[in-house]
Amino acid sequence: MTKILHRQIHASLPVAVGGQGAHLLDADGRSYIDASGGAAVSCLGHGHPDVTAALHAQADRLAYAHTSFFTNEPAERLAEMLVAGAPQGISHAYFVSGGSEAIEAALKMARQYFVETGEPQRRNIIARRQSYHGNTLGALATGGNEMRRTQFRPLLIETHHIDPCYAYRFQEPGESDESYAARAAQALEDKVLELGPETVMAFVAEPVVGATAGAVPPVADYLKRIRAICDRYGILLILDEVMCGMGRTGTLHACEQDGVAPDLMTVAKGLGGGYQPIGAVLLSQKIFDAFANGSGLFQHGHTYICHPMACAAALAVQEVIARDDLLANVRAMGAHLSRRLGERFGNHAHVGDIRGRGLFMGVELVQDRSTKAPFDPKLKLNAKIKREAMARGLAAYPGGGTIDGVNGDHVLIAPPFIIDAATIDAVVERLGDAIDAAV
Ligand code: PLP
Repeated sequence: MTKILHRQIHASLPVAVGGQGAHLLDADGRSYIDASGGAAVSCLGHGHPDVTAALHAQADRLAYAHTSFFTNEPAERLAEMLVAGAPQGISHAYFVSGGSEAIEAALKMARQYFVETGEPQRRNIIARRQSYHGNTLGALATGGNEMRRTQFRPLLIETHHIDPCYAYRFQEPGESDESYAARAAQALEDKVLELGPETVMAFVAEPVVGATAGAVPPVADYLKRIRAICDRYGILLILDEVMCGMGRTGTLHACEQDGVAPDLMTVAKGLGGGYQPIGAVLLSQKIFDAFANGSGLFQHGHTYICHPMACAAALAVQEVIARDDLLANVRAMGAHLSRRLGERFGNHAHVGDIRGRGLFMGVELVQDRSTKAPFDPKLKLNAKIKREAMARGLAAYPGGGTIDGVNGDHVLIAPPFIIDAATIDAVVERLGDAIDAAV
């Protein structure tokens, strides 16, 4: 019997023993297509020789040195690379061990920014429903996934939530994208005015919603309107690209496609591609300057910030993606995936919506297509689909089953950037069979 406290205590999990490219292997010799990289992590696939070589070399040179005594080469080089590719205004990177830590750090940067610049009354965080920003207390308070939050509510700081830009669920029949973008963004301004603009610190959003709703992109102009509202009231815009960032949507950052630059951005999963745990906050010059010209420090830190092994892995992953122009493959294979999903599920009685960007696609399941009514969460449809898919040699990330009754179950498809058309065809075929067997 396992001595690990697994998330699903009664689940019996296969033992993963190997991985090559887009495939994982278990101890019984079964092979799985890794169609979602866990939760959109394994962007380069498994066992990439350039990354394992970089890890070996870094382990031989230096595994760890505390950042209060030393900086290190891979962290410095990774920061240079990330800042060079970041949206306008981003000037520095802060390295942590994952997405939740990145969100916590970004929230504290926002708070310290206003303390340093003489507006200490700004403390309100506005975020969105049907979102996920991590499991630590600050991140959980910020997120809008009710199922994950409910029992921990007494421990969570006060935050404020508005509806996300989620066309399938919230766009009215006959409403143009332009009107819907304006209406969805107006919800932010209304909330700011309700709270008092001088009290609002930050607005936090995933440009493409990941785990809670399943690859939901905003309609055109929504994020531009959000940026304008933040600017109008001096509020910091934090974009959480932990899941949708680092090339997943076909551009290095998802927000590039919306023509928007944040004040703070969080990245993680695809940054290290799963070869090491790593996340980062990318911060803008104005935030850096406030700290540099004020107290001279960021009042926050973890033992493993700028970890040399993690930074070496991320650097190697990002160098391969750039060298091999893998974002071109994300765009080409993303179009192929979208087409194949449309062919297989376009008329499916229980598929309400197929959406996403690049190799980040979601299939939303509904009990009734005409009413968009989700399945009862008690049916645990997402768990059933996962089991059926695993039995067919497919690992795809099932989500949803939220208790707020808005959206139901979905499957998130986020294969590695190296995937080819034949493997995508196999993903869609196995997923179709798994869904048909489960519903
Ligand atoms: N933010 C987003 C958008 C995420 O999808 C996740 C994880 O799924 C997190 C934050 C938290 O990241 P981690 O699980 O690495 O702590």
